[in-house]
Amino acid sequence: MRIAPRLACALISLSLAPLALCAAYVLPREASVPGGVKLIRLDYEGSALPAVDVDGQRAMVVKDGAGWVAVIGIPLSAPLSTRSVVVHDGNGRQQLEFTVGEKLYASQSLKVAPRQVDLSREDLARANRERVIIDAALSHWSPEQPDALRLPQPVPGTRSSSFGMRRIFNGESRNPHTGMDIAAPAGTPVRAPIAGTVIDTGDFFFNGNTVFVDHGRGLISMYCHLSAIDVKAGQKVAAGDTLGAVGMTGRATGPHLHWGLSLNRVWVDPALFLP
Ligand SMILES: [Zn+2]
Repeated sequence: MRIAPRLACALISLSLAPLALCAAYVLPREASVPGGVKLIRLDYEGSALPAVDVDGQRAMVVKDGAGWVAVIGIPLSAPLSTRSVVVHDGNGRQQLEFTVGEKLYASQSLKVAPRQVDLSREDLARANRERVIIDAALSHWSPEQPDALRLPQPVPGTRSSSFGMRRIFNGESRNPHTGMDIAAPAGTPVRAPIAGTVIDTGDFFFNGNTVFVDHGRGLISMYCHLSAIDVKAGQKVAAGDTLGAVGMTGRATGPHLHWGLSLNRVWVDPALFLP
């Protein structure tokens, strides 16, 4: 007799620990706010990967037990309103909506070399070229489901809670902070938190030496200000592999790792993905 997956889980759970045997997937914490993550459980238990689009971008969908969960990144610039996603699955096409709540981010004043705030024509042209490269990295899509969506810190050290902060460099307002800064001594190895494939590496004007890793289904991680890069584009990495070393290349006020996480081409708060 063939037993439906959910029923099988229920039967096993009568005698043994329920969660481990139902192949429950490790999801991030949900925070339906700008820079946060919305989890939407789909009403579909078929085997084919559903397609979910948000703002014209393919969004992550992961298998969790018998069902599927869409894991949606919300832009820092998202207004207080409802957002919609379009779901294509075995039930057909439907539009789902969710609300984005308020989150007030503080501002942060920083002092850096004047040439890193008022860019020369050459530096501005370089930064614009690099923005295209970064966007291309974030646009990567590979079909594998990430091993987990709780990621250990890539380096040990003190975490700042500065994700989303509006930043004032030398008295001038600039873009908000789109990652997590972890203070660590220069040279500390930076390790891949989960398996993935290196998309690209390079030396960027603001971000310094940088590595991008694709973890699957639109989850891209970025490691910046490195003093050394130990991987190459196309290389597969396992959890714990060294990507490079902590440094202060690019626009940095001291040695630290800037860790960025992007879902559906949107920077989200890495703190939601910590174990
Ligand atoms: Zn940073």
